[in-house]
Amino acid sequence: MNVDRVCAKSGLLVDGDTRLLTDPSEYFHCGVDVQAGCGRLRCANCKAWVRGGPPGLGINDEVQVDVRKLYAAPDWSVLPYIEKPFVLHNRMRFYTCLCTTWEAESNEPVDNDREFESDPRVPWACAGHPVPKLPLALKDFTIDAKMRGVELVDKVLRGACPRELDRPFSFGPEPGVWLAWLYVYLQGLAITDQLSAAIADRLTDPDPHVVGRVLYYFSQFPRAAGIEKLVAKAEADPHRVAVGYPIPEHRSALTLWGVLVERLKHAPKQRDELDARIQSLITKLLFIPLSSLPHDDVGPTTTAEFEGKRRATLRGWDAAGIASWVEDFARARKLERIDAIGDELARSPGIFDDPEMRQYIADHIIEIDAAAPGRWRQAMTLLTDWIHKPEEGHLIVIAGSRIIQARLVPPAEFRTWIKNRRDYGWVRDEWVLPLETMLKQS
Ligand SMILES: [Zn+2]
Ligand SMILES: [Zn+2]
Ligand SMILES: [Zn+2]
Repeated sequence: MNVDRVCAKSGLLVDGDTRLLTDPSEYFHCGVDVQAGCGRLRCANCKAWVRGGPPGLGINDEVQVDVRKLYAAPDWSVLPYIEKPFVLHNRMRFYTCLCTTWEAESNEPVDNDREFESDPRVPWACAGHPVPKLPLALKDFTIDAKMRGVELVDKVLRGACPRELDRPFSFGPEPGVWLAWLYVYLQGLAITDQLSAAIADRLTDPDPHVVGRVLYYFSQFPRAAGIEKLVAKAEADPHRVAVGYPIPEHRSALTLWGVLVERLKHAPKQRDELDARIQSLITKLLFIPLSSLPHDDVGPTTTAEFEGKRRATLRGWDAAGIASWVEDFARARKLERIDAIGDELARSPGIFDDPEMRQYIADHIIEIDAAAPGRWRQAMTLLTDWIHKPEEGHLIVIAGSRIIQARLVPPAEFRTWIKNRRDYGWVRDEWVLPLETMLKQS
């Protein structure tokens, strides 16, 4: 993880219902699953610090505004050209520097392609955020130089909150998100690595919620210190990588498999020894029969029950509305818990983009399907994506001809798959014609 303490996407401009950061050390990072507005935006034109207003104020478009006077005015709510405009869903938030203004009706990054009217068009950027100084008084506790990572992690897992994050849909303590927030907030201090290592040490905790939070943390930060403990656990018992741990902080159940996937998905070009170990473990996992790869969820509360509580925090939802929403939600979660490994074949070309890996999958497609009948589809979806084409187009013919020769799939079903694949995949006569010829002869 980089130690640049700069907001992702040059910072967010946020509406009036989202936190505008006032602590100069706090910044927005995608690993913390809650949006927050940068409080240290600076204008490249006039060099002024950008000022963000209180929730719910906008500016009357009919009036000519002196931006310099506006910027200097201590209380915007009393200015004659300020109004409380009606916004459909959220309250808006008004921003100004000495040369330009912006009305945020939703949360949008400063870095954007300026395609939509809601995309900010401002010469502003996050100027970076200083490392916080010890001792650090947070909401429920203080971090001083004597504080150990183990103690800090234990406090948070027991429900001590470092900062109120105003996360939408939250209905109780969210230690998983709080630990992620601490990791980002404390970057640059020695305790950060201790924090991660202490979290990894809780992987075998008897409380399934703690295990879920460990998995959540390393899914967010798959390069943090201590991740090697999770990889070692997966290597020691690969059969258990798809077991799920529901927590209130996340919609889907967390798995060790998910952590491995996140790590490889965001791997740098130069992969390290740990990445190589994960790669070889994934190769092994492709052959473990689904029957000995349990996908059950562990813990007292299901993902659907958590979703019901989340929905209940919203205004305007009655019991019947929530129940029907939760039913759809449960159906979607159930689909994730059938073949997590096959799903990644079709969904995450990034973790299977190594040419040797792809050759290997093409060569072993029959055995991969034997482990989880029907997985040939996901493997073929992978091989017919747009990555490394046309150089690796021949792998489609290699894998497809194995499927046909082994009579793994009825010819009509295979033809239908080819037809459906035309909409999204790399579908060319170079591979369709040879396979169709083989299908005719089979
Ligand atoms: Zn920032
Ligand atoms: Zn300016
Ligand atoms: Zn086992």
